[in-house]
Amino acid sequence: MPDQISPVSSKPSHALALAPVPTPPSTVDGFVKQFLENLNLERGVTLSTASPNDRYIALATTVRDFLVARWLEDIRRQKEAQAKGVCYLSAEYLLGRQLDNNLLATRLTDIATEALAACGIDIDELRALEVEPGLGNGGLGRLAACFIDSLATMSVPSIGYGIRYEYGIFRQTFVDGQQVEQPDAWLTLGSPWEFAHPEAAQTISFGGYTETFDEGGVTRSRWVPGWNVQAVPYNYMVSGYHNGRVNTLRLWRAVATDAFDLRIFNSGDYEKAVRAQTYAENISKVLYPEDSTPQGKELRLQQQYFFVAASIRDFLDHMLTPGFDLSKLPDRVIFQLNDTHPVIAVPEFMRVLVDEEHMEWDAAWEITQQCFAYTCHTLLPEALEVWSVELLGRLLPRHLEIIYRINDEFLAAVRERFGDDEMRIRNMSIIAESPERSVRMAYLATVAGAKVNGVAELHSQLLREKVLPDFDEFYPGKFTNVTNGVTPRRFLRLANPGLAGLITDALGAGWTVDLERLRGLESFAEDPEFRARFAEVKAANKRVLSDVLRARDGFEVSDGHMLDVMVKRLHEYKRQMLKVLHIVTSYERIVSGRVRAEDVQGRAFIFGAKAAPGYVMAKRIIHLINAVGEVVNNDPRVEGRLQVLFPPNYNVTLAERVIPAADLSEQISLAGKEASGTGNMKFALNGALTIGTDDGANVEIRELVGDDNFFLFGMTEPEVEELWTRGYKPAEFYQQDEDLRRAIDLIASGAFSNGDRTVFEPIVSNLLYDDRFMVLADYASYIRAQDRVDAAYADQDAWTKAAILNIARCGFFSSDRSIRDYIDRIWHTPPML
Ligand SMILES: *Cc1c(COP(=O)(O)O)cnc(C)c1O
Repeated sequence: MPDQISPVSSKPSHALALAPVPTPPSTVDGFVKQFLENLNLERGVTLSTASPNDRYIALATTVRDFLVARWLEDIRRQKEAQAKGVCYLSAEYLLGRQLDNNLLATRLTDIATEALAACGIDIDELRALEVEPGLGNGGLGRLAACFIDSLATMSVPSIGYGIRYEYGIFRQTFVDGQQVEQPDAWLTLGSPWEFAHPEAAQTISFGGYTETFDEGGVTRSRWVPGWNVQAVPYNYMVSGYHNGRVNTLRLWRAVATDAFDLRIFNSGDYEKAVRAQTYAENISKVLYPEDSTPQGKELRLQQQYFFVAASIRDFLDHMLTPGFDLSKLPDRVIFQLNDTHPVIAVPEFMRVLVDEEHMEWDAAWEITQQCFAYTCHTLLPEALEVWSVELLGRLLPRHLEIIYRINDEFLAAVRERFGDDEMRIRNMSIIAESPERSVRMAYLATVAGAKVNGVAELHSQLLREKVLPDFDEFYPGKFTNVTNGVTPRRFLRLANPGLAGLITDALGAGWTVDLERLRGLESFAEDPEFRARFAEVKAANKRVLSDVLRARDGFEVSDGHMLDVMVKRLHEYKRQMLKVLHIVTSYERIVSGRVRAEDVQGRAFIFGAKAAPGYVMAKRIIHLINAVGEVVNNDPRVEGRLQVLFPPNYNVTLAERVIPAADLSEQISLAGKEASGTGNMKFALNGALTIGTDDGANVEIRELVGDDNFFLFGMTEPEVEELWTRGYKPAEFYQQDEDLRRAIDLIASGAFSNGDRTVFEPIVSNLLYDDRFMVLADYASYIRAQDRVDAAYADQDAWTKAAILNIARCGFFSSDRSIRDYIDRIWHTPPML
């Protein structure tokens, strides 16, 4: 193998827009040549001097180069077509690793593997070097990533906008069983997947004041900002699967403006100037690690405004031809608001139309109401973002004026319709008066949005009935549902190649883009040979996971154990504590001699969960899980029948290993609290059976797979409401259930804290006296369901059949279907030519 290529480069020296479309290296030799060229030209090294990171970057660059030509072509085509497109606005994109997904999309996996082997490189070693861009917290950010994958695969004209956080979600480690957060410096070794365009920066303003002025006898307002920052776009390619399409994800980075610096530099205060620069650049420095519990911090509002203002300006500048008639905007764009984080886009859009484009207020509002749609992701009141009027007025004074006017006109319309019902007016006002005067962003989004959607049938129903009932009455037809989905490319095809191969053998390859075809597996569920092959794939996936956990964390997963998995953010509403009580009960039954270890179904309980750094109870629960694991895993009386494994730093990369190996999927939130869940879908599509409550998308999973293939337990949402209203008295459940009493007493006794009764006392008192999420009320039902799981698992062949039926019946949960629903119900965008 030559160590260097000839110095004549085939790279075009000018803009690729003018270059002929390069052909992909459809041969191993072609790939080798380009790879070596990239080592030389991109990294300045030879094959023999290249570090592993050089090799990874050269490989990524080689793959990227093939996407670029298609990408540029698609950007041109989208602009030329003048078709309506989707601007997906999301503060989070939990992308996961890029290399494999792009190899798959371009059909280069085999060629790249062989080419690197020819250079003496194991491609798996380079795969392992990629640091995943963790620019999201959990389900919401991962949903955005699945959606842009589907948008590209379905050729929907679209662009994703977000923030290029320098530090994504923290890296979790455990010290003495307790979570310790490390910064996620994902950019340290460089990211080969991004293109920076500092020359295309937008100026984003903050602060200052507003003033009125006379314009031809009309009094107008304008904003005189106090300071500004530059928003520098970083472009990422989003490759469609086997369709040659490449969409754009544009993430913004905050950089200090020259003008701003100069003013202070000229004043002679160098240190102050540098500090000011740091202040500006802090805006895109770090992702807030709160999931479902926003903190209302000033920097977070800065982040939100920063990215939506840059995105709107970018869309108007680049997607529209000069002189475009802005009244036609609803024919060209729909801004989809992924939760309330981007909702400040609404007053910004109004400000641009009215103040900058000199449009009349009513006309601008008419347009705005057609150009936005809002997705709500929660039912927890504490997750509904509000911004104090004081803060919003200080940071964005003109926007606050605009919000007040929107609210005045909205409340006038409400009065006209319902009369002077002051209670109703107060309940519907975008401005809350207590505990402090603040702006309810979900209400603003609901008033402005053409449509408002929940993310699963039950969630959308509760949204209309419980969260926003007055709005549902006021705006008939505005509320709709789009049940979430996950991309089958990443979470089945890539994460589970064994199962993907088995499905393709049975049904052909079309399922990857038409997941309802999995229905065809129903008949194979009866086929003994297919079942045997499925069982073999599952066993192989368990061995892979076992190897990963051994290498990563030094764990030994016992052979033959059921893999019982609960991976998701740590939150009390998700009820990891219920899982802990099940484990403690199983353990206590053995050590108290009530059950013989040898009669216990072997189980490995696998957890993955990050807690928000300021969420004290969540961090205590993490500590308890690790403490229980320490005791259970090392008690000889257990004879290894129960194992508790908690690999730290659950992320997309780990999800891709854990989910294909799982037997049992734990989806045990209190009914009425989990909006949808998407982890539940990933597990079912990989042939795990679900033990779950009637909550979120679990409801739809159960309806599809059938009661026989799903372990249902717990109260329904109306039962939860009923018990809560009647008065939930957890101590009564504790008194009445011996297993529960023993489990709680064991934790309280210090059995998992070296006899120290204080460590987990706050958890115990919370469960007994103060638990909004009613863990004890569902305990008995959960334990009975787990006993049914054990019985079912004893019949491996029946279990396998149920697993296959889960896969066959869950094609509905493709994010391609979600996107189709968005198009039909909300966006009304045509596919690209
Ligand atoms: C899918 C996914 C989630 C969401 O899981 P839920 O169980 O729906 O909360 C969170 N984190 C990662 C890494 C995921 O892949």
